Parts: sequence; structure tokens; C-alpha cells
Amino acid sequence: MRVAIVGAGPGGLACALELERRGIYPDIFERSSQVGHPIPRVEVLLQLFEHPLRNQLRYLVENHALEFQPLSPLRRVVMYTSSRTAKVRGNLGFLVERGQSKEAIEVQLSRKLRSRIKFDLEADYRALAGEYDFVVVAEGNHLAARDLHVLETSYNAWIKGAIVLGRFAPDSSSIYFNTDYAGHGFACLSPFNRNRAALLLIVPEVERSRVNELWNRFMEMENIKYEISHIFELYQSTGLTTRRQVDNILLTGTSGGLTDSFLGLGLFAALVSGALAGRAIAEGLNYERMTMSLSNQARCMTVFRRAFNTLDNGDIDRLVSAITLPGIKQVIYNTNLNIIGMLCPLLEKRFKKQHPSLQYPSPRK
Ligand SMILES: Cc1cc2nc3c(=O)[nH]c(=O)nc-3n(C[C@H](O)[C@H](O)[C@H](O)COP(=O)(O)OP(=O)(O)OC[C@H]3O[C@@H](n4cnc5c(N)ncnc54)[C@H](O)[C@@H]3O)c2cc1C
Repeated sequence: MRVAIVGAGPGGLACALELERRGIYPDIFERSSQVGHPIPRVEVLLQLFEHPLRNQLRYLVENHALEFQPLSPLRRVVMYTSSRTAKVRGNLGFLVERGQSKEAIEVQLSRKLRSRIKFDLEADYRALAGEYDFVVVAEGNHLAARDLHVLETSYNAWIKGAIVLGRFAPDSSSIYFNTDYAGHGFACLSPFNRNRAALLLIVPEVERSRVNELWNRFMEMENIKYEISHIFELYQSTGLTTRRQVDNILLTGTSGGLTDSFLGLGLFAALVSGALAGRAIAEGLNYERMTMSLSNQARCMTVFRRAFNTLDNGDIDRLVSAITLPGIKQVIYNTNLNIIGMLCPLLEKRFKKQHPSLQYPSPRK
């Protein structure tokens, strides 16, 4: 069987590894000259968003034989709002490196591959669909979904970021919410190690020309004085798709509408959907059905996003106070209850009543 994979990010690599485990050696096309983005970053695998799973890394190993080393477990998150600071401790997830270093997840996974990646090749998934039995689109954007008329919602953000030098706790991330500089986005600081961290400001639905001014405001208002070793800007697409398979074309990760529109998290879903695409192809299974729960999770996060968009700084303060009250904190962060899944329909109902003109995507069966 001939399979082409477009993109050697987490989704594409997870798919390739799953196919290889089943004796199929795919052709992998990557437009860059090596795996990983040239600018390194730290991503968070947040346990809370994957409940009832207790440990995402163990899940990936046990269910998909996907193994990689994180930078560190995440044991503390500090949340800053316009007028308060709140801390959460526990087994909150993992910090994972992205980029081109040997610690980066793409590099770790690509080392396990036996198939050769064809670098510097901007692939056209439509042309490949005529040549191969299956094409897996793992491009990290919505171009194919739009082209195939399966893009349902699109939510975009500009990200300004920096690699900063200073002293950091390697198992702790900070997150900043303040509409004065982030709109309904946020900023976050996550360490690579004790001396180096990635600082990101993620502003949804904003013109690129405003990002600099908002970054300066963020640095000033939060009194951030780290030495900056690198500064960059990125564009991020999130959004849902109505389907994840069209004929012999399977969409994974961000291309399959699986990166959430609330916090922009999508690493876990990219890995799982990539592996599921490989399994579906090898065993003739129904990929659409296999990825339904990932899609419903992304759908649910869209409800959170729409609700969050209606909040002002005072509301965000109250929300953060509420979710960090001792009893509530214990239930949210230190049990494996699917709080997100439980809150989603309640939020949807409440905000539909308050904002009848807003549209909410409902979970699909
Ligand atoms: C700044 C930032 C911070 C983030 N933080 C987090 C986080 O903390 N936690 C989290 O869970 N998620 C986070 N995300 C989201 C996460 O990175 C994505 O959900 C994840 O990378 C999606 O994986 P993917 O394989 O679908 O796409 P990608 O990782 O984008 O990989 C796509 C690959 O395809 C290649 N490609 C694209 N088009 C073509 C083509 N036509 N031909 C050949 N190759 C092509 C690209 O070069 C790239 O290598 C963050 C995203 C950004 C931008």
C-alpha cells in the first residue's frame, strides 16, 4: 500500500511511526530542510484538558507506542490576572520542547523513523491523492480543509514571543490574562531549563501591525525585565472541521481541526490523530469515528472560547479566584474528573441564553 504524509510535525511523524509498526513505509514530505521550527519553544501538555486520562505520556506509550522525553513534569502553574495572582500545584502535565534541538519532540520522534523524509518539498496533497492509495495531511494549517470545503470555524491569533534568559523553576509555568494587552488571549512563560524560557503573547483576531504595541504594553504592565536572546512573531490557526476524511485524504492535527480555539493546545491531539490515521489506513478502520472524541473535545473548547470572549478583566479575576478556591482547586486539578466535558454543555446553555446571537457548534455524534 502506498501512503503519502504531508508534513513532518507531530501529527505526520506519529502517523509514519504507526504505519511503520504495521509494515507500511510511507513517503513523508516536509517543506523545510529539517524537522522542527527553527525557533525553539516550550509547549505544555495540560493534564486537565485530557481528563479522565491520568497521564498523557503513559497513554501515548501504551496506546500508540509513542515515546519521547519531556523537558519536565509540570508541577506548578501561576496565574496572573489584572489584579490577582493565583497558584495551582499538582501533577498538572508536562513541558515539552519543540524545534530542532535533540530534546525537541519532532527530533526525538524522527530518530525512530525508518522511512526517509523528503525535505525541501512543498507537497500538493491533491496531486498526491491521485498517485497514492492514501494521503495524510499533517500540514499544521487549514489550507486543505478550506480547499476540501470541510473547514467549519476558523480562529486565528498572532503570537509574539521571545527566548528569555534568567532564573526559572523548570517545573513551573506562568500564565497572564489581561485584556489590556492580550485581548481575549493570554501570555505565558514556560522554561526550557533553569536559565532559559519561552515567553509568548498570544493575541487572537488582531491585526499584525498592533502586535508590537501590545507586546510592549505586556512587558511594561507585568514588569518583565528578562534578558532577551531571540524575538519572533508567528501566526496560529485553530478551528474546527466538519470531517477529517474526504475520499483517500485524511486530515490530522491542526489540519483536522483538532487544535483547540481556547488556549491553542493541540500537541496531544496531533500525536493521537496522527497515530489513529496510521492505524485506520493499515487496518481499514473508520478514521472519522476514531477521531470523534478528539473533535468533540476541540468543539467543546470552542464553547469555552466563545464564552471567554464575553468576559472583561473583572470577570476574569472572579473566574480565576473561583477556580483556585481550595476545595474547587482540589477537584479540578487533583482528580481525573472530566471537568471540561462536564462544564461544556452548562456553559453552552448559559451563554446561549445570554448571547442568543452567538453560534455554538454542538458536539457531533
Ligand atoms: C507558539 C505556539 C505555542 C503553542 N503551544 C502549545 C502548547 O503549549 N500546548 C499544545 O498542546 N499545543 C501548543 N501549540 C499548538 C501545537 O503546536 C499544534 O497543535 C501542533 O504543532 C500541531 O501539530 P501538527 O503536526 O498538526 O502541525 P505542525 O506542528 O504545524 O507541523 C506541520 C508540518 O508540516 C509542514 N508542512 C506544512 N505544509 C507543508 C507542505 N505543503 N508540504 C510539506 N510540508 C508541509 C510544516 O513545515 C511542519 O513541519 C502551540 C502552537 C504555537 C504556534
